[in-house]
Amino acid sequence: MGRHKPNKPRRSRPEPDAHRHEDFEIPTDFADPGGRPVDHALLGQLVGTAFDGCTTCQDPLLTLLVEDPATTARLVELACVATHSVLGGLPASMTDDDVPGQTAPEFRRLARAGLDGANDTMFVACGELPTAGRRAAANTALDILIGHLATPA
Ligand SMILES: [Zn+2]
Repeated sequence: MGRHKPNKPRRSRPEPDAHRHEDFEIPTDFADPGGRPVDHALLGQLVGTAFDGCTTCQDPLLTLLVEDPATTARLVELACVATHSVLGGLPASMTDDDVPGQTAPEFRRLARAGLDGANDTMFVACGELPTAGRRAAANTALDILIGHLATPA
């Protein structure tokens, strides 16, 4: 009676490489003002998945990223640098809380802190954000960065 169930169902081996994204090379000629290490490999992977628009791969990487304030700050910085090089400055919608726009307030706070090359201030401010705040800032930074990567100046 009933169907025979094998005691040990065998699973096919997981294939983590079943789909891949090309990592971006993040410039590493960068001295973190506080001497904190930036996880360039993680950052490169995250930008690669975001560029491909794959949220399935992006989400776990983002979770790792926001646990790492220095690497999150570096992502925000890259977004600011990319914008700066295209527009010659940061638009108010990226720094001013009162200007409407899609930029997360946490991102604006960090961008403000980093204005005029005040990198150290920005990295410290990023470390002081709660994880959810860093995630909001990182999401905005990714959107901005991917926008620039997709449409190179
Ligand atoms: Zn993917």
